[in-house]
Amino acid sequence: MAKYTPMMQQYLSIKAQHKDAFLFFRLGDFYEMFFDDALKASRELEITLTSRDGGDERIPMCGVPYHSAANYIKSLIEKGYKVAICEQVEDPKAAKGVVKREVVQLITPGTVMEGNMLDDKENNYLASITTFDDGSFTVAYNDLTTGENTIALIREGWGSVVSELYNRPVKEVVVASSLPEKYQEELQQRLNYTISFQDDTKVDPAFDHLFLNINQQKYIEGFGRLLNYIRHTQKRSLDHLRPVETIELNTFMSLDMYSKRNLELMETIRKQGKAGSLLWVIDDTITSMGARMLKKWLERPLLQKEAIEKRHAQLSGFLDNYFEREELREQLKSVYDLERLSGRVSFGNVNARDLIQLKQSLANIPEIVQLLERFENEEINELQKGIDSLPELFELLDESLHEDPPVTLKEGGIIKDGFDAKLDKYRDAARNGKQWIAELERKEREETKIKSLKVGYNRVFGYYIEVTKANLHLLPEGKYERKQTLTNAERYITPELKEKETLILEAQEKSVELEYELFLSLREKAKAYIKKLQLLAEQISEIDVLQGFASISEKNGYTRPSFNTERLIDIKDGRHPVVEKVMKESTFVPNDVYMDDHTDVLVITGPNMSGKSTYMRQLALTSIMAQIGCYVPCKEANLPIFDQIFTRIGAADDLVSGQSTFMVEMLEAKHALTNATENSMILLDEIGRGTSTYDGMALAQAIVEHIHHEIKAKTLFSTHYHELTELDQSLERLMNVHVRAEEYQGNVVFLHQIREGAADESYGIHVARLAELPETLIDRATHLLHEFESGDHSKQEYETAEEQLTLFKEEAAATKTSFKGNYSDEEWKKQLIELDLMEMTPMDAMNELYKLQKRLKK
Ligand code: ADP
Repeated sequence: MAKYTPMMQQYLSIKAQHKDAFLFFRLGDFYEMFFDDALKASRELEITLTSRDGGDERIPMCGVPYHSAANYIKSLIEKGYKVAICEQVEDPKAAKGVVKREVVQLITPGTVMEGNMLDDKENNYLASITTFDDGSFTVAYNDLTTGENTIALIREGWGSVVSELYNRPVKEVVVASSLPEKYQEELQQRLNYTISFQDDTKVDPAFDHLFLNINQQKYIEGFGRLLNYIRHTQKRSLDHLRPVETIELNTFMSLDMYSKRNLELMETIRKQGKAGSLLWVIDDTITSMGARMLKKWLERPLLQKEAIEKRHAQLSGFLDNYFEREELREQLKSVYDLERLSGRVSFGNVNARDLIQLKQSLANIPEIVQLLERFENEEINELQKGIDSLPELFELLDESLHEDPPVTLKEGGIIKDGFDAKLDKYRDAARNGKQWIAELERKEREETKIKSLKVGYNRVFGYYIEVTKANLHLLPEGKYERKQTLTNAERYITPELKEKETLILEAQEKSVELEYELFLSLREKAKAYIKKLQLLAEQISEIDVLQGFASISEKNGYTRPSFNTERLIDIKDGRHPVVEKVMKESTFVPNDVYMDDHTDVLVITGPNMSGKSTYMRQLALTSIMAQIGCYVPCKEANLPIFDQIFTRIGAADDLVSGQSTFMVEMLEAKHALTNATENSMILLDEIGRGTSTYDGMALAQAIVEHIHHEIKAKTLFSTHYHELTELDQSLERLMNVHVRAEEYQGNVVFLHQIREGAADESYGIHVARLAELPETLIDRATHLLHEFESGDHSKQEYETAEEQLTLFKEEAAATKTSFKGNYSDEEWKKQLIELDLMEMTPMDAMNELYKLQKRLKK
């Protein structure tokens, strides 16, 4: 074994305890990395790889300067890595042998506190999953920046755990090392979370106060794991952590992972950014705390009518008082992030500027309170009742801190005159000394008659009297002692100047030291207000979200929805909140949705691109907006309160997980069918499309029938299988609607209007023409279509869809059987010729081709 220097041995023993993190090992002004860490970091951070003598061998090394480490750490954290900060914990001068070093903080994606690594408008959650023998799970969350702690119990299995996690901006997941491999893999590879392990779930009694609202053992264990991980990584004060709140999942609308993604609530599927999402349209908050609160509301739409209507009533109050609302928006602009500021106060990493931000924010609160009182609305007046603007804290900060303090804490300039008598004394001494020096310059000039003589100061030599070489002869002998020679001048010191210098420097040093101490004690005093600050932050955030709702409702012409328990959906002139926003040239065509107690399923037909999925999504988004307390995009809306929304929309291939579109489609369908109730909404867009025609149609029909007979959820079902529109004959709670399109001079014109009944044509060829496929191809397709329509397979021959489906089944079975034998060349040709290419989706064609090839390979 290689023999390492004592310092490398120290490094290796520390690294052994932090195998899954980059170890930033402090050496003088640098953080150095060695061995594999160095190789990897030099690649990831694009920094030069060097080497260092480590004993018997040279060791790969790379490093980043201490003062610019933050950016490098940020870059690693954003890539999902962890960084262990290892500092020298004793004075190198006093150390015997190798300086003692310790890891003082472990920075991980879920526990960053540094402002430059955080998105202001988003929470930064660390989550933890715990499994129990009865098959249930807990999912615990902590946002270290705000101190928020929550936990939910999940009984419905792993799929629901994943959907729950997907709900929130989770950056890292803490699990037991015994969590089954397949779950670990899913979290890491498919969902892209940083995984960390913590097996100890026992709660240290010092943290009992976090468990005030909780007594179930599962919650204690589940949160214990998370807490122990936080303690292990942070190694510092966690005073700002708030008592754990349970999330009662059955009091919120549940949206599974697929639906959240498909509906693009927080981000779009393609670009994975906020632009184009529902959040993008409805976020008109001013503060970042408000923006975070809005996201939380959107993560969990409400189910209780009273709670929803309370938000609507508050929104209405803001809406009706335009001028007051605008004034409030102005005021909110000067409220900083109280929530994260208080987190950092507790964490001990606030500087004087942060506290000034805190003070400025507090300064606005009394005016906000008064403003809310001025609204002619009881609900709004109510909002200000519990607000404590913390005047004592404001005064404390106002008396003590300079308005424009430096970022650094150890160079003075932080504390105001008059705040501390001792500090004032030091400052007086320094100031008097400086005055004396200014006076000295005048006196010396007079005595020597040298006009250019000056008294100056620099860090190395201290105070000096400077005389240009041309004037040296005017100086009396013996009085001045030479200190420094410049090209054109000499610098001198006198004993009395030296004496004053000592006094001034001492006073300055002491005052800077004292200022630092005073600042620390101020920070301690501010700590006592953390709980109140957190409450204030919450109140302000709520006001911000509600005023934002009012403001966008006004801008976008939203209306207040009402709710019924009669399973009635009645929307007049509904619009899609996002599509109407992104449309530039044309205007959005509003549509009604009407489904009474006797209608559970709407089958929507119409050409591609006519607006079928827009219509379906618009219903889901409208219900979600209503249930988070916002107004909705329509003239009038009367809605049931939906307990869950399930979607199967669009062909968003789950490429990361390697699942085929069709498999995803079936998984989504299964999820809906097993969990939906009669109070749910199900949106199925072109289900069955991913497989061959008969297969797909059969599945689609069976799914509709199942929903119709068994589940009775309100279901919107768009399809290009015209055969399915005939189901209205046999299923009494099913209705057909279609999107109108007209043919005009050989082209299709989309009117985007929803009308009763089924569409009569699929317009596929017209769409192909719009897409500018070659004219000869279009002609050929038109010709074929006529042939098909007049040929044996013409659908008119079948009385009902069921009859047709049975036939399809037989045909499909026949095709399968024929595969059992070996084909002759003739038969191969026949198989190929008989492929009805124009009627097949690309997927169908792939399937057929695959089958034929497989056959040939045998
Ligand atoms: P489909 O599901 O029928 O293929 P989409 O719902 O995807 O069609 O709609 C296609 C496009 O048509 C949308 O991106 C939008 O630009 C436009 N569109 C849809 N509905 C409307 C409407 N009601 N008013 C105006 N344009 C619409």
